[in-house]
Amino acid sequence: MIKISNLTKTYHMGDVSLQALSGVSLEIEQGDFIAIMGPSGSGKSTLMNLLGLLDTPSSGNYQLFGQEVGQLEEDDLAQLRRKTIGFVFQQFHLLPRTSAQENVSLPQIYSTKQVDSAKSEHLLEMVGLGNRKDHKPNELSGGQQQRVAIARALVNHPKIVLADEPTGNLDSKSEKEIMSLLCQLNEKGMTIILVTHEEEIANYAKRILRMRDGKILSDDPIKNRTRPE
Ligand code: ADP
Ligand code: MG
Repeated sequence: MIKISNLTKTYHMGDVSLQALSGVSLEIEQGDFIAIMGPSGSGKSTLMNLLGLLDTPSSGNYQLFGQEVGQLEEDDLAQLRRKTIGFVFQQFHLLPRTSAQENVSLPQIYSTKQVDSAKSEHLLEMVGLGNRKDHKPNELSGGQQQRVAIARALVNHPKIVLADEPTGNLDSKSEKEIMSLLCQLNEKGMTIILVTHEEEIANYAKRILRMRDGKILSDDPIKNRTRPE
């Protein structure tokens, strides 16, 4: 479903260039749950941005659902991204002064120019915030804001959720809630790719990738997975 081979990414800043990814190859089947770990600067976010079609590689191939991504025009890329991928970020990235429900609907507005409010309500209920739909981000806790962000990631029925340190700003109780939600989604067949600094969080996944200096050091199944309470 995801197949990348020999992906590289070089950033150019004036005379200086920096190779953030150097030859990453990886295959991911639908329904997998991957934790990506590695020190700061090892290329985790760069890889996530490439997987999520938010950025383009300097070289290498990326096939997503059988399509060679490098051959797609900008509009087709954007459409493929909207239809197939949901994003969750460490900083939530919710619009301020905008209700939880409107935040959840935003990707719908971008993709179909229409709002299905039953859908956003249903998703907010699913993440346990059915009674908070009119709250604005500053009226919600960090864990609640991240649950709104997860509902937003799901509104266009993605097949893949990319989560870059989704629990990085959360207390341990909220961390568990978020991981339990991601596990539930994975059990329904959604592919989850998660970046984390914490082994405890990575242990919820099925497979763990360790990166260093823009390369994959190891790629192993997780034997004793943590199951949500
Ligand atoms: P990680 O997420 O593992 O901390 P990143 O993928 O963000 O690592 O970064 C990998 C390397 O690429 C780092 O050395 C970082 O400084 C560099 N880098 C990331 N994004 C950019 C950018 N937009 N421009 C220039 N360099 C970047
Ligand atoms: Mg990062």
